[in-house]
Amino acid sequence: MDKLTSTSMQELLKAQGLKATPQRLAILKEIAKEGHISVDNIYLKIKNNFPSISLATIYKNIKSMKDAEIIYEINTQDSKPKYEIKKKTHAHFICQLCNSVEDMEINKDDFKNYGDINEIDLYLYGICKKCKI
Ligand SMILES: [Zn+2]
Ligand SMILES: [Zn+2]
Repeated sequence: MDKLTSTSMQELLKAQGLKATPQRLAILKEIAKEGHISVDNIYLKIKNNFPSISLATIYKNIKSMKDAEIIYEINTQDSKPKYEIKKKTHAHFICQLCNSVEDMEINKDDFKNYGDINEIDLYLYGICKKCKI
């Protein structure tokens, strides 16, 4: 997980033309801390510090940061989408029992035999190590 300081989060937002509001910074902080997190869980975690924040506000901010490609949406088969800070190309391993999401290192060059790869959006489903016991 890339470490993101609040200064670098502010710069990340500004570089994409978004205002670094306290709400956006709080959302980014939770995403960075958890790695992959759903909107519902972001809401549960930040409403202590922002008692007046609504789920709709979080959705709106998530959408603008997603459109600005600051965060990335992970669509799982069974659970609600999760969000992560956009980072270098990787795939996702999703556990079908606990719905945990794990980053998998992957290289565009691995697929160069098929042509020029522009984007990788790859999910693998299975049972994670924790659930296998
Ligand atoms: Zn699991
Ligand atoms: Zn990821």
